[in-house]
Amino acid sequence: MNHFDQTVARHGLRLQRADPEILQVNVGKLCNLTCIHCHVNAGPKRREIMTRETVGRILDWLRGTEIRTVDLTGGAPEMIPDFRHFVEEVRGMGRHVIDRCNLTILLEDGHRGLAGFLRDHEVEIVASMPCYSPDNVEEQRGEGVFDASIAALQLLNRLGYGREERLPLHLVYNPNGAFLPGDQAALEADYKRELDRAFGIRFDRLFTITNLPIARFAAYLRHTRQYDEYMEVLVDGFNPASVEGLMCRNTISVGWRGEVYDCDFNQQLGMQLRNGKPMFLWDLDLEGLRRMPIQTAEHCFGCTAGAGSSCGGALVE
Ligand code: SF4
Ligand code: SF4
Repeated sequence: MNHFDQTVARHGLRLQRADPEILQVNVGKLCNLTCIHCHVNAGPKRREIMTRETVGRILDWLRGTEIRTVDLTGGAPEMIPDFRHFVEEVRGMGRHVIDRCNLTILLEDGHRGLAGFLRDHEVEIVASMPCYSPDNVEEQRGEGVFDASIAALQLLNRLGYGREERLPLHLVYNPNGAFLPGDQAALEADYKRELDRAFGIRFDRLFTITNLPIARFAAYLRHTRQYDEYMEVLVDGFNPASVEGLMCRNTISVGWRGEVYDCDFNQQLGMQLRNGKPMFLWDLDLEGLRRMPIQTAEHCFGCTAGAGSSCGGALVE
């Protein structure tokens, strides 16, 4: 048993799978940004993206399941050539689609009609916005990103996002360094007040997400000699109440080649599910999955520290 599983067990708990409700598809590492906290090491030069054939195989598998939500992430998921095809097909099955959007992509040349496309297909948007003031955003995400994000949010509001119930717009906050996020409800109130006051922007929910010590963020921690200290914060902050809500319990994570993982973090660490051999989505039967243990390691303490963390924000009020 590893340190994380031991800690869970010490609290009399077990990390067990629930029925899968979300298929989270990471369509690749291509992105127009290169944020310092990026757990995918994404960027404009990355070439790993999902092909039309893989999209087709995922869609075929999805049709045979009751999974209601497809959560598209990347990189910037909108940059793969088959993004719109993927969304149209999933919506055609009557399933819900979430787009994890970095906002700036909505204004890039070649993607100008994208916001309207998302609106027309009632795609829920979960958008990165690490702060409501420019300095923190640009330190983490690059020069010019704050103004572009504001312009993109204003565009989405004009289209009805954050204003109409059928067009949810959520923002994601993650800390600008080696510390845990603050209280989600308090931060949401700050964001709502400040973004409305300064820019007339409205949105639905703010999700606070802990930076996990992997990939580019781990390199940053090591470079600044903060890795051990940050791990201590995560381990000491273990909150048993967060275990029930961990996203690996009800989410299946798929990589750009169709490989299957317990979550997007395990995906970036190459912890592919195995059943004698590495598994792809089209090999997966949901009954068999129930019997497979969730693969954990030291980074999992990032999901259970403080109020807990998931793609839907804090896990404990
Ligand atoms: S954090 Fe998101 S927007 Fe930033 S480089 Fe990574 S994938 Fe792109
Ligand atoms: S990192 Fe993944 S496997 Fe580990 S606790 Fe978080 S969601 Fe679960």
